[in-house]
Amino acid sequence: MRSLSRSVIRPYICPSCRSGTVSRRRFATQSAQAPEIYDVVCVGGGPAGLGLLAALRAAPATSKLKVALIETQDLSKARSWKLGPHQFSNRVSSLTPSSVSFLRRIGAWDHVDTARAQEYQEMQVWDGETGSKISFDWSTETSPFENLPTIATMTENANLVRGLLSQIEASGEENVAIFSNTTVSSIENGTDDPSGPNLSAWPVLSLSPTGSASSQAAVPSRIAARLLIGADGINSPVRRYAGITTDGWDYDRHGVVATLSLSDPVAPTFPIGTRTAYQRFLPSLGGPVALLPLPNNTATLVWSTTVEHAAYLKSLSPRAFIAMVNAAFRLSMADLKYMMGMPRPATPVSDAENPHEDELTWRLQHTPQPSHIPPPVTGVQEGSVASFPLRFRHASTYISPRVALVGDAAHVIHPLAGQGLNLGLGDVASLAKTIEYAANHGMDVGDILTLERYAAERYATNTKIGAACDVLHKLYNVPGQGPVTWARSLGLDVIDRLPFVKSFLMKNAEG
Ligand SMILES: Cc1cc2nc3c(=O)[nH]c(=O)nc-3n(C[C@H](O)[C@H](O)[C@H](O)COP(=O)(O)OP(=O)(O)OC[C@H]3O[C@@H](n4cnc5c(N)ncnc54)[C@H](O)[C@@H]3O)c2cc1C
Repeated sequence: MRSLSRSVIRPYICPSCRSGTVSRRRFATQSAQAPEIYDVVCVGGGPAGLGLLAALRAAPATSKLKVALIETQDLSKARSWKLGPHQFSNRVSSLTPSSVSFLRRIGAWDHVDTARAQEYQEMQVWDGETGSKISFDWSTETSPFENLPTIATMTENANLVRGLLSQIEASGEENVAIFSNTTVSSIENGTDDPSGPNLSAWPVLSLSPTGSASSQAAVPSRIAARLLIGADGINSPVRRYAGITTDGWDYDRHGVVATLSLSDPVAPTFPIGTRTAYQRFLPSLGGPVALLPLPNNTATLVWSTTVEHAAYLKSLSPRAFIAMVNAAFRLSMADLKYMMGMPRPATPVSDAENPHEDELTWRLQHTPQPSHIPPPVTGVQEGSVASFPLRFRHASTYISPRVALVGDAAHVIHPLAGQGLNLGLGDVASLAKTIEYAANHGMDVGDILTLERYAAERYATNTKIGAACDVLHKLYNVPGQGPVTWARSLGLDVIDRLPFVKSFLMKNAEG
């Protein structure tokens, strides 16, 4: 391990910082205590931050770095997270094969409960306004007797976080400190201690416990980072400290999520065990509705819609909610809009009467059904209906001296393609590789020249995918039969009939 002696620290501080010509970065007030020094400090114990720590612990060169992770939430709860086999968390991500292969490579996938994860091999996507459709069906790419390649693996975020924590724990206690129940209250530049290291260009973090005092005994009040990583989500304090700006906007939409039970599949799947994801764009209602498979004939819902519609859906009884989800995949836009405006019963309705169910049953008799709809939803897991605001943010850069951003701290995108966390894991894989390269070549892990490899690898890729999701959202928010709608349906139909283009899109969806 490279020791953090003063002689090692000093050469890496650039002359301008030493002479104090660079203005001091600050995220709050100063404190005088000497900080404890780490090679890498990661703020944020979500999937991106824990993924980075697990990756650093997995590679021989970086496992010797002295690393710390700080998380406001209580990670012991995440470590002991448990649900029954028929219950699923409502925060689920579709991990692409390249995300899963990264998690396998660092050993974390061995700690994920794969009985709770669900691969899918087919995807049906169609436009609720025009009916044009594109099906991503791998059977055109393979022989009927081959196993179909996986498009993505649905994994509960909590299952992934628990797996990452187990993997980090399994890597041993040497050189790693996890400060959970601890918040970063301020970040500022350190000072040039005449009798110690010159930390005037190093980030120094002040930590405050958020949990019970007894569990916080070992938390130092201040720590210094040779490299500070912001994996601290959309409101990243690390990004603010580094003075990195973001571009973006709020979509004025919410993503309604829920865990649903499905009736038995209508037709037996072939090859056996094949599962399908469904997404229908609903331009007049503000965004797509998606039903993604989970084990045991359950599924997770992500319905992107206006804030008003989201509030309406959340206020419904379970039976009315189920009727609305079934309607969303089956009825015309006009019928669906009508049902979205139905009065909410003032008192709980009896088992015998349910206006939303009755309306759906009546309207279905007059609506021809395409073959590509999902099996009917029959139940909703109690307490699983929730909604999240949808936003687009992109940091102007991912790096600055001694700072790197990953995951939602760097970019937040529309969830319609299920790519947000996949981009975050892509960042983590790239940054871990960059740090490993630096460690192997005796470079300073926090030097801007070291970090440029990471930014160069990730910025353009993330910009492309974030922009594609934004364009798709805008394209599929134009209701009616105007030129955009025609172009949109023509686009889907043409792609659906061009095997080579479709194959290209499918390969890209794989990650
Ligand atoms: C409805 C919806 C559906 C989605 N579906 C998908 C999908 O199918 N596939 C996909 O890839 N992505 C999906 N996403 C996106 C995905 O959920 C996020 O990109 C991902 O969870 C972000 O992880 P992260 O670790 O970067 O950030 P976060 O999970 O936000 O973690 C940040 C952590 O930093 C901590 N923190 C913040 N400030 C401090 C502080 N001062 N001190 C200490 N700790 C701090 C927080 O407590 C938090 O734990 C979806 C998003 C939404 C809204």
